[in-house]
Amino acid sequence: MANRRATPRLAVWKFASCDGCQLTLLDCEDEFLGLAGAVEIAYFPEATRGQLRGRYDLSLVEGSITTPHDAERIREVRRRSAHLVTIGACATAGGIQGLRNFADVREYAAVVYARPDYIATLATSTPIADHVSVDFELRGCPIAKHQLLEVITAFLAGRRPVTPAHSVCLD
Ligand code: SF4
Repeated sequence: MANRRATPRLAVWKFASCDGCQLTLLDCEDEFLGLAGAVEIAYFPEATRGQLRGRYDLSLVEGSITTPHDAERIREVRRRSAHLVTIGACATAGGIQGLRNFADVREYAAVVYARPDYIATLATSTPIADHVSVDFELRGCPIAKHQLLEVITAFLAGRRPVTPAHSVCLD
């Protein structure tokens, strides 16, 4: 019997973010129907009930690292992922929450929370690439739908995605 190649397993992970880039992914519903059979959305807790299980061929990571727990979690994501792609300004640059990098985060916590001593947070918001190796960074806030589809399609074809080097035209 001929060997059948397993359907690539896709996972989507959220760290500190507004979910806007995941919404871009959800907006690809029609295009995913066209990819039916070519990729399995195996883990996407914001949208499906799939269980965390085994390894994933492609992980899309939204959000930045802002807590000690997330600094551990992203290493676990890396261990589970053959390819890891960061999506959006939060994941690739630290996001708007990176404003804390220029202030004292304890002062912010004291203003926002009744019991700031319960809050476990890092002094900084940092991009995913500061913590683990990243195979590709897709920039934007939010990311562009057609660029996200290019990233997924390129992965399925075994080639590097072709996306603009800049998010604004520099010509
Ligand atoms: Fe939201 Fe922008 Fe961060 Fe995407 S990059 S999660 S749209 S804040």
